[in-house]
Amino acid sequence: MAIEDFDLIEDGHYGSLGPYACVPKEITEQLHKAYLDKLKPIKPKLSKYKPQDHEHVNFTFNLDVDGLVPHSSDEYFAKIDSWGWSSHLASLLCGTKPLRCTFANLFERYGFFRKGLVDSQQFFNFCDSIEQKYQKHRNFYHNGIHGTDVLQTVHVMINSTGLINFLDDLEILAILFAAACHDVEHTGTTNDFHKDTKSVLAQLYNNVSVLENHHLETTWNTLGQKYCNMLNLSGSQLKYFKELVHEMILHTDLAKHFDQVKSINSALAVMTPDTWSEYASDPDKPIPAPFDKKSLLALVLHAADISNAAKPWHLQQLFTMQILQEFFDQGDELKQRNMSLPPLSNRTTTNIPDSQIGFIAYLVKPLYESISNCLSSMAPVIAARAKHGSSYIQGVQTASSILATVNDFDNLWRGNLTYNSNRWGKIKIASNRFARPSVMPKNPKILFKKKSKEQKPEAIIEDDCESEEDQEEDIKFIQKARKSLAMSHPATMSANPENIPSEIAITAYESKETVNSEDSSSP
Ligand SMILES: [Zn+2]
Repeated sequence: MAIEDFDLIEDGHYGSLGPYACVPKEITEQLHKAYLDKLKPIKPKLSKYKPQDHEHVNFTFNLDVDGLVPHSSDEYFAKIDSWGWSSHLASLLCGTKPLRCTFANLFERYGFFRKGLVDSQQFFNFCDSIEQKYQKHRNFYHNGIHGTDVLQTVHVMINSTGLINFLDDLEILAILFAAACHDVEHTGTTNDFHKDTKSVLAQLYNNVSVLENHHLETTWNTLGQKYCNMLNLSGSQLKYFKELVHEMILHTDLAKHFDQVKSINSALAVMTPDTWSEYASDPDKPIPAPFDKKSLLALVLHAADISNAAKPWHLQQLFTMQILQEFFDQGDELKQRNMSLPPLSNRTTTNIPDSQIGFIAYLVKPLYESISNCLSSMAPVIAARAKHGSSYIQGVQTASSILATVNDFDNLWRGNLTYNSNRWGKIKIASNRFARPSVMPKNPKILFKKKSKEQKPEAIIEDDCESEEDQEEDIKFIQKARKSLAMSHPATMSANPENIPSEIAITAYESKETVNSEDSSSP
């Protein structure tokens, strides 16, 4: 493996990897041993940033993201449409209130304040309350930064897949709202942990999607608080909005993942272009699940929730180390309780590269492929039913332009998944290489030839797969060859036959034997 594979470490990203310390000790030791002398000294980047009371992450922020070093949140929010946008950087620029800033920026862009769908004063009260609740358990990963990441990712995804043409303001509002709130008051532990430890939440929700139900409950409670009720919706609008949010947040439960993917794939398999044309030509014809808006929005939110692996490497790496830190902390707690550890919970035995390669191959890629296939097939329907009133959509979309958008996005996530998977593979190869025994045998047998008193014994290192009898035979053969060569060249060799290099003696002896045998066989 070449040193350039660690160019991020060299470039200073190493400094942002506080949780990197959670990589198994033997791997970090071997990597450090091999590369530390080649690394340039890294000066910590000074920042005016001062952690606030509720600041919980323990790594050093890195300003240099994708070559962009913004000087203000305004400058960075101008890039909010980017797939490589970093919620960590947003957190730094927004004084640790990334959710509030991102939420407000997007609502402004979609015109929700101007259109009167959202009350701006109550909106900020709601945001602050939600952001505070995200920090309740001071999680490494499931915190306000993750909520912000999913919110921004959802924004990019609905635009990058063309799905936004299919949605009205209420539905866009619903998916942004669901994304921002989808993990609020996360406990930093898994649903299985709650079930196994018979937690209060597990009992409250009868062991069914425990955390997701808690996120929903917390969201509605917050919205119902005085000065936080930001939505200006009619009764029927609010009912539909709540149905959408309910469906989306419950489907962030990873336990539903395979059913979601299977359902969309099976339904796609029986759809034909003619069937889609029927929906395109009749805008009032209801589209059944799983192609209805509720299912599609849930699919997109779930994809955004596990999008880290489809992002540029520096984001994938940082988020991975953070989520593993959370899993390892949970593992430590299970150990203290003398309970068995689920996969990814053991900080000393977890194979990080393998876990990520597997996650990409078996979960992320199939889900993203299903979304690409689904939205490509639906492009004519989306174009026919496009809402052209939204201020955020530029121009009229056609089926072919939507298809081109889906293809562009397909290339983007596919390229990142491949790159990230390969990168984990290279790290795995590097760690395996150092874990392997050296080229020398583990227990080399040192054989001492019997020497005359004045000569020092000559050590011969033999591969330990050779038996002692074979080794004795070899030594006898070498002695025989040396003697033979000394006798045939008495002037030069006979003085000290033991000094004749064994390879020369063997080669000479074997060639002589060959000549002799050829001579004897000749007529
Ligand atoms: Zn999440």
